[in-house]
Amino acid sequence: SPALRVRGLTKRYDNGVQALKGIDLEVAPGDFFALLGPNGAGKSTMIGIISSLVNLSEGSVEVFGVDLQQQRGAAMRLVGLVPQEINFNLFEKPIDILVNYAGFYGIDRATALVRAEEELKRAHLWEKAHMISRTLSGGMKRRLMIARAMMTRPQLLILDEPTAGVDIEIRRDMWRVLEQINRDGTTIILTTHYLEEAEQLCRNVAIIDRGQIVQQAPMRELLATL
Ligand code: ADP
Ligand code: ADP
Repeated sequence: SPALRVRGLTKRYDNGVQALKGIDLEVAPGDFFALLGPNGAGKSTMIGIISSLVNLSEGSVEVFGVDLQQQRGAAMRLVGLVPQEINFNLFEKPIDILVNYAGFYGIDRATALVRAEEELKRAHLWEKAHMISRTLSGGMKRRLMIARAMMTRPQLLILDEPTAGVDIEIRRDMWRVLEQINRDGTTIILTTHYLEEAEQLCRNVAIIDRGQIVQQAPMRELLATL
């Protein structure tokens, strides 16, 4: 089954805004996929629904064949989310942020410590493991968010505008970490409004505008049409 299968997905917020208007989308296992679109297109809404933070109005979402509405818990365990805002405690150390996060998901401490070392190394943060997180650079903080999301070993990693507002060097650091995670077997979906980011990283792309998918294609094909 695909990593993600979305059928007829609609979202109406309580204020009447229809953020998604019948989305159909499929993402293959192992893919690195971009959801590209302007502000207000519905990208965050899509990500919120896939990660079970937002309730859908109509349609269906399956993650690796697990239906989000019928088996919410099982679907949630397959998905890791990297939110846009830095939301960890800046007075904790990276190692503690990761181990405590794993503990919240019922992962025992010994396993959590092994994973934390692996994830901090993969995110190029191992040498910062015992620093106070407040002292990390902006790029390091964002990579720490990625390492934290990987602690539960999600099959599908979702990132909401991972590099919005960060400069190009920081963006490149993050790209390298994400490419490694994808090479190691995790399917990645990110939202972005930078075509360059989608172009650098992603094999397949869907363009979303005003709640509808206007194009879905391999990145190479899309670039040929621009
Ligand atoms: P849901 O239908 O998923 O429960 P709601 O419509 O209840 O979502 O809104 C969730 C929260 O988002 C509310 O606190 C609301 O005030 C806030 N919100 C409302 N409009 C917007 C908007 N345009 N962009 C972002 N957040 C909004
Ligand atoms: P994007 O991530 O592409 O910028 P969003 O999913 O945040 O798009 O927003 C899509 C539309 O839904 C916009 O019109 C936005 O104002 C509206 N919206 C987003 N969140 C909420 C909310 N919680 N309540 C009401 N409207 C919302």
